[in-house]
Amino acid sequence: MRGVIMHGPGDVRVEDRETPTIEAPTDAIIRVTSACICGSDLWPYRGQDDYGWPAPMGHEYVGVVEEIGTEVRNVKVGDFVVGSFFASDNTCEICEAGYQSRCVHAVPMGALGTQAEFLRVPLADGTLVATATRPTPAQERSLLAASDVLGTGWFAAVAAEAGPGKTVAVVGDGAVGLLGILAARELGADRIIAFSRHADRQALARSFGATDIVEERGDAGVAKVKELTGGLGAHSVIEAVGTQESMMQAIRSTRPGGHVGYVGVSHDVELPGLELFFSGVHLHGGPAPVRRFLPDLVDLIMRDRIDPGTVFDLTLPIEQAADGYRAMDERRATKVLLTF
Ligand SMILES: [Zn+2]
Repeated sequence: MRGVIMHGPGDVRVEDRETPTIEAPTDAIIRVTSACICGSDLWPYRGQDDYGWPAPMGHEYVGVVEEIGTEVRNVKVGDFVVGSFFASDNTCEICEAGYQSRCVHAVPMGALGTQAEFLRVPLADGTLVATATRPTPAQERSLLAASDVLGTGWFAAVAAEAGPGKTVAVVGDGAVGLLGILAARELGADRIIAFSRHADRQALARSFGATDIVEERGDAGVAKVKELTGGLGAHSVIEAVGTQESMMQAIRSTRPGGHVGYVGVSHDVELPGLELFFSGVHLHGGPAPVRRFLPDLVDLIMRDRIDPGTVFDLTLPIEQAADGYRAMDERRATKVLLTF
């Protein structure tokens, strides 16, 4: 089968890989119908993460079940399925509490590499959610978004306690931040402030429900949010970048007693204890337990209630994956969809 392999920073190739087979009776093999490139794939691409090269790439996927292990009960051959970027049993105490990304048996799908024609999904019963009917092309794009960026944005909005009566601010205008805006809108937020200085992303932010745009960043951005909220700061802030500047921007934009939902993968972030102490904010985040939200998100998408697939602004055949990485690295694309 064909699949994407990264050989080092900036070196993305599409190569022949060994087609996966069932290894455990709880596995399923799916034929991936679309995959995508994540903002987090840019960290190794830019040499900012240590990786063991060569590395299979990708952790987002939708597809059709080709084969199941003897113990798989919840999905069958021919089902159209979506899963999250962590395989999980969905039965342990951590899963039952809604934190499937930290399942005691969690398997990171990135290690298997979903930017490939076929994929082995461990713990298929706990990981995969099947649709009742075959999705339309637009629904399929949205289901692929649910696999990570929508699910992650949704968790961030829930962790930030977005809801009626709340003003939500969103730090980060990548796909996760943009879909955090959509989630905050669906959760009933009154007002949504998006930090963005790119016209194309500002337009997407507004289409997903942003009511205000702030172009300033860092402490100037914080000052702007305070100005928009009577000097208090937002009730709920989504952090979807993972840098020192973005994390402090999120914490400082939050009013005392407010909530920060942080989902940007942390890179060398250090929090000043005394400032945190006096901020009086709640911090909650981490790798999003996307599986918690998948059944509801699949339902909203299959009823055409939400259209998060519009976040994909470049679609390429898998053979041109290297062009997709370059386009995202150069910020010519927000989110790249790969077809097979
Ligand atoms: Zn579990």
